[in-house]
Amino acid sequence: MIAKVEPLTTARALRGPFDYKLGERFADVGVGSLLLVPFGRQRLRGVVVALAETSDLPEERLAEPIAALGGPLPPGLVDLGLWVAREYCSTRSRGLELVLPPGRGKGIGARTELRATLTPEGRAALGGSERLGPKQRGALERLAAADGPVAAGADRDSLKRLEARGLVELSAEEVSRRPVSISVGARGERPVLTPPQQAALDRITAGLDGPGGELLLHGVTGSGKTEVYLTATEAALERGRGVIVLVPEIGLTPQTVSRFEARFGDRVAVLHSGLSAGERRDEWLRVRRGEARVCVGPRSAVFAPVEGLGLIVVDEEHDSSYKQESDPRYDARDVAAHRAHSEQAMLVAGTATPRPESWERLERVELAERADGSPMPGIEVLDMRERDGREGPLHARTREALSRLAQEGGKAIVMVPRRGWSPFLDCRVCGHAWYCPNCDVSLVLHRAGDTMRCHHCGHTEGVPEACPECASVSIARHGAGSERVAEIVAELVAPVRVLRLDSDAASRRGAHAAILAEFDRAEAAVLIGTQMVAKGHDFPDVVLSVVVDADSSLRFPDFRAEERTFALVSQLAGRSGRGGAGRVLVQTLAPEAEAIRRAADHDAAGFLAGEIERRRELSYPPFATLVRVEMAAKEAQAAENAARQTAARLRPLLPRDATLLGPAPRFRLRDRERRQVLVKAADRGETVDAVREAVDGAIASKVMRNVQLSVDVDPQ
Ligand code: ADP
Ligand code: ZN
Ligand code: ZN
Repeated sequence: MIAKVEPLTTARALRGPFDYKLGERFADVGVGSLLLVPFGRQRLRGVVVALAETSDLPEERLAEPIAALGGPLPPGLVDLGLWVAREYCSTRSRGLELVLPPGRGKGIGARTELRATLTPEGRAALGGSERLGPKQRGALERLAAADGPVAAGADRDSLKRLEARGLVELSAEEVSRRPVSISVGARGERPVLTPPQQAALDRITAGLDGPGGELLLHGVTGSGKTEVYLTATEAALERGRGVIVLVPEIGLTPQTVSRFEARFGDRVAVLHSGLSAGERRDEWLRVRRGEARVCVGPRSAVFAPVEGLGLIVVDEEHDSSYKQESDPRYDARDVAAHRAHSEQAMLVAGTATPRPESWERLERVELAERADGSPMPGIEVLDMRERDGREGPLHARTREALSRLAQEGGKAIVMVPRRGWSPFLDCRVCGHAWYCPNCDVSLVLHRAGDTMRCHHCGHTEGVPEACPECASVSIARHGAGSERVAEIVAELVAPVRVLRLDSDAASRRGAHAAILAEFDRAEAAVLIGTQMVAKGHDFPDVVLSVVVDADSSLRFPDFRAEERTFALVSQLAGRSGRGGAGRVLVQTLAPEAEAIRRAADHDAAGFLAGEIERRRELSYPPFATLVRVEMAAKEAQAAENAARQTAARLRPLLPRDATLLGPAPRFRLRDRERRQVLVKAADRGETVDAVREAVDGAIASKVMRNVQLSVDVDPQ
């Protein structure tokens, strides 16, 4: 048998697969097996991408692998990894890394536990006249009382001595490291589905019994989407099929995880970055072995080794964390659609604020009302232009509503777009402003720790006492981040507790879930933080939600700015007023903006219709594919030259209708000058092929020396 092996190396130039012959001792090797192979004078790790009877090379020139490092993968996963590499212009090796078991090559092995069983001699010894110390006797009695093997635990030393005398048998058993999960609001009941929920379930089971399919489940928070995912998962399991549930970030969605665990127990595996390396390896193996048939996790879980996949759920499908921001820059939503299609599985994307892409492409079921019948909260748009700025970051109506909370109790959520105390400082005398030395962005003042920080590269420096240009001590602090707003809110609502949830407050592992759990338990409290507060959790007794600066996301020069703003405001509103009256206050400088008006009217369909028309006119996704090629270098000239050459190579390869924009500068980041070339074209396949060819050609050329090049298909 011949194995076609793709070497795992970062060299773009080295392209497999290469043939190796498999002798007797490699009988278990299959597609997806990890091998150690000789390669010239090196040894490389490589993945078997195919098996063949014959090779184009003569038999005697073929080497044998040195060792097998891991077993085969479920069918389809190797192809999935290679598809990602192609689709996102990455290397085959990086694509394959996505589907391989975690912890490889980092010395993460199985955890074993010593187990003891009583031998017949041991049993006889207990009743007979053998000399036994008190500890040894105790250990034997414990074994005699048990049915089967017992974990050695603290008796380890005694048991070793007993083993030497033939009284017990010891064996090392592999055990799984199971992550501990914090249960947040997992309410165990199992309601009767409403007619629209049942319609969604019927559509999904039809897909499970047929060739799969795709469904968009559109409904506000609390409309019963998760209940549909749970019953659909049940339906898949009944048919012997496996399930993958994608969630934005586990730390932000502990409720969804808890509900799957509550309903499916040990059949659920959870994969995420908060796990230790050993836990991740063992969870992966539980899925690989079929012990767990449901895998819940963030974007990378789309590559979970689930065999016989029947259903992929993408919860909160609008969430931008599904896009990976490092090579390979894949979008887990598109990978999920591709995987579902090739395994004839059902794809279910759920959200209150669908992406225009999904709205346009997918069949849809609407869950128009909240499951508990409570009305959607009223949304008031507060115009911040009428103010003179001296009143601080909160509108009078907002302050009033918060003060009332202090008297009447209840919970509130306040969303502030930025972390820190103040996002921008300048000198009142000469106008000097404080910027990051490595990036073209302003430094953010953080009161905690008394530092100025760059949110892009992590640079920190002390808080200035005087201007370095003119020595003036009059330094103005502009704007308000979550730290400052939290302090203002705390004064307004005292003695009600204020909990802060942003990546500063929740940097510790598990801290997110702990903060959310505390908010869940509290009688009255305010949860305040960045976008995180609008994500994935659902508290029935929130009476007030506030968006402090709704248009901060609108000001981004990006065609997705409207979509993102609409989603943010709607998502936060959807988390308010469950089980009773709710009120939402949206502070904005752009009260007329379509995204804000439609969100205030709870009109997703209206917003999407307009947005899709706009995209069609401007030829933006879903009506075209965008590909960004970025060149980064220490020297601006090097980046510029590389960008010009890449654009020149690219132009003749592109389809006729394609537009090429640039080279254009992007802001300096991590001490790298950047240039980008943007391609917009209708045919995705042809465009990606053209970019790949141009990039592969460019990489070898001289102008690329010391230039980092990256390709982003569907940049966010
Ligand atoms: P979503 O995922 O859309 O936010 P959930 O599935 O979490 O909605 O449902 C919100 C709440 O309503 C949950 O407490 C859930 O148990 C309950 N629920 C869901 N479906 C029904 C139903 N058909 N009848 C009664 N309660 C339901
Ligand atoms: Zn100055
Ligand atoms: Zn920086």
